[in-house]
Amino acid sequence: MIALNKNRHSFTENDTIFGKILRKEIPADIVYEDEKAIAFHDVAPRAKIHVLIIPKQHMTCLRCMEPADGELMAHLLSVINKVADKLGVTEKGFRVVTNAGEHGGQTVPHLHFHLMAGEELHDF
Ligand code: AMP
Repeated sequence: MIALNKNRHSFTENDTIFGKILRKEIPADIVYEDEKAIAFHDVAPRAKIHVLIIPKQHMTCLRCMEPADGELMAHLLSVINKVADKLGVTEKGFRVVTNAGEHGGQTVPHLHFHLMAGEELHDF
C-alpha cells in the first residue's frame, strides 16, 4: 500500500526503484532527460511502446501534488509530448496513465506517467 504520511523525499533519500534509476545506481533505457525530468522504457511493457516519465523531485503520486507544483506538472506534460515526438508516435497517438495509490494500482511510490503507444490500445 502506498502511504501518504511522508510524501516527498530528497534526491538521496528517495528509496524507490525510480530513485535508484535517477541516481544511476541501476540501469534504465533512458529516452529523455533534462534538469527536472527523466523518461525511460518500462521494464515490463504493456504496449509496443511503453515509457515512464517521472519528475526528478520525489513525490509519491498525483495525490501529493500541491499548487506550487503547477510549473513542474506543466513541464512534465511538455516532456510527455517531447518524448512522443522523439518516439515518432505523435501522429498516430498515444495513451498517458498515472496510477495513484492502492486502488489506482500503483506499485512504485514515485509519481510517474505511463506513455503507451505503437499500436491501437483497447481495454480502457
Ligand atoms: P505503477 O504500477 O503505476 O506504479 O507502475 C510502475 C511501473 O514501473 C510498472 O509498469 C513496472 O513495470 C515499472 N518498473 C518497475 N521497475 C522498473 C525498472 N527497474 N525499470 C523500468 N520500469 C520499471
